[in-house]
Formats: sequence, C-alpha cells, structure tokens
Amino acid sequence: MPYSLRDRVAHYTSLDAPVGFEEPVLAAAREELAECCERVETDMRGNLYAYQTGTEPNAPRVMITAHADEIGFMVTSIIEGGFLRFTKLGFPTDMVLPGQRVRLHVGGRGIEGVIGVKPAHILSAEEARQVPALTDLYIDIGADSLEQAKSWGIDAGTPVTFVGELIQTDNDHRCFGKCVDNRTGVVALLEIAKRLRDEPCAASVVYVIAVEEEIGLRGAEVATKHVQPDVLFVLDTVPSGGTPDLRADALPWDIGKGALLKVREVKGLSTQRPLRELVRAVADEHDIPNQWIVDTAGITDATSAQQASGDIAAMVIGIARRYAHSAVEMFDLRDVQAQIDLTVLATSSITSLEALKRL
Ligand SMILES: [Zn+2]
Repeated sequence: MPYSLRDRVAHYTSLDAPVGFEEPVLAAAREELAECCERVETDMRGNLYAYQTGTEPNAPRVMITAHADEIGFMVTSIIEGGFLRFTKLGFPTDMVLPGQRVRLHVGGRGIEGVIGVKPAHILSAEEARQVPALTDLYIDIGADSLEQAKSWGIDAGTPVTFVGELIQTDNDHRCFGKCVDNRTGVVALLEIAKRLRDEPCAASVVYVIAVEEEIGLRGAEVATKHVQPDVLFVLDTVPSGGTPDLRADALPWDIGKGALLKVREVKGLSTQRPLRELVRAVADEHDIPNQWIVDTAGITDATSAQQASGDIAAMVIGIARRYAHSAVEMFDLRDVQAQIDLTVLATSSITSLEALKRL
C-alpha cells in the first residue's frame, strides 16, 4: 500500500477550505499541477484549470474534475456575551453539531471555538432525545464580550470549519477525519495528472479543481461550459452503507470494495452508456475492484456539468466514505488507489468519439 497516498490525503484534509474560501486547496493544487501540465489558469469564479495535450489531435477532449470545497459554517451575527450565531455552508449533519470543535478563519488566522452543548444534568428526557434547531445553536470562542469578539476581526460572513487531523485506524488502509469529501478526490486528480504526464495518452486532458460544489454544484457548471469537453470524469465521494445503523439495502456498497461507478444519480446524472461500459471493461480487464451503483440520494458535479454542457459523456468514478458530512468521515485508501488506477486506464482508453457513440 502506498502510504505516501495517506500522507497526501492527510495534508490536503489539514487544509481548511469551506465553500467560497477554497484558496488553500487551490493554491496547493496549482503548485502541483504547474509541474505536470503545460498550462494552468483560473477563472473569475475560482475554478482551477490545468492542460495536458494528448498524442492524437483528433482524440476526444477529456475533463477530469474534483471539488476543492468542504462543508462548514458561516457566522451570521455576534450576540451578547461574545457568542456567535451561524448558518451552514453546505449540509453538515445537524445531529453531530453540539459539542463539536470548530475553527473560524479571519484574515489567514485560525480562531478556535466549540459549538455549545447544554449540560446533560439539566436536560429533560424528551429534550435529551432531540436534535437542537440550528437557530438555537451558537459558537463559543472564549470571548469575554461581544466587543472582544468583534475586536478579533469576527464579523457576519466569517467562515468556519470542522477541526481534526486525519486519524489512522489500526487497519493500515482505513483513516477518518474531516473533509475526506472531497480531498481524496483532489489527491486522486493530482496523482492522475502525474501518471498521465509520465505516460501520455491519445486524448487531451483538462484537470479542473472546482469550487462551490457543496452549495449546489456551482463551480463545475461554469468550468464545463468553459472547457467544453467531450468526456467528463468526476472524482468524488459517496455516502457508504455497511454500518450497523443502515439497512443492508439502503446503500448497498461499503468502503474497501473499490471504485464506485455511478449508473445514475436519481436526482440528476444519467451516465452515458458506452462510456460506462468502457470504464467497466477497463476495470475488469485490469482487476480493479469496482461496483456499479444507483445513487438514490446524492448528486455530484457530474449532474450540473452534464446539464451545463449538454453534448458530453459524463461519469462519476467515486469512493465510499462512512459518516458523510460529519467531522469523522471514514474511508479506505485502497479505494482511492482504485479510483486513481481506473481513471488513468479509462482515460488512456478513450481514443475516438466514434467509439463512444450510442448508435
Ligand atoms: Zn463531494
């Protein structure tokens, strides 16, 4: 197992990049992509693009994308006593919020805090079973007063993230931490770019680190219009089944089982059939563990990208992660490796548009 892959994910999950504040991830990725691509650029929205020209001028143009942003929170007001009211950036799970460590980001400085939680001693039995409303929650940053909180530079709009380094379990392959969604995808994309630099393929490849996925798949929509690819691979995470709190048929896939190939996102993406079959054939030929899945709950950038650009063959090559949209998302490094290997081999197999036509 390439443990450097774990170190890479640990590094990228240590960066704080909530929706709309993705610069730390974009800057780190730009540095790496500049070393293995011919050209790197950004758009006004923040999306990062990197280009590799293929060996065959008439081969399809392939876009490979992963989103940079992570779920988090945003301060809406400072209240009496120096406590902070907040809203969500994306969709963190409400039931895990009380008692969480969080970090505010003010002008490049991190300010530590906790989401307050009522003492168990005074909760009624009924109250103890309830998930508090977001509007009743607050962040405590240890300020003496409203004025002191303000003097630290906190204001409406200050972004907030979960806190926690990537934790290695006693299983060498499995780790957990914050923003596994989608730093595993970002790391996979960077590894794919290096592999295809060393072994160039027929297709020209455009790598896109997209912004604002967690609040409505927004950056990728802009990026896909910009790139106008023929083929799109989206690298992202998928909520996992396989835990005791889920019925076996609720999410019939688990971590450690390989790459997840989405046939459908029921709320959006319909994967183009010849592309889907090409990717499956490549996976089977090279013994890369994989599973076709129908995602009845989640959507990814593939949904908005397919709608934005229209005439493209789009597909998600994903990995499962448990405890989606909490601060302790658990995943299996072997799945990331499968995602990397499969995307490299599938991209290298795309040599003509004709071969991807449905009729
Ligand atoms: Zn994601």
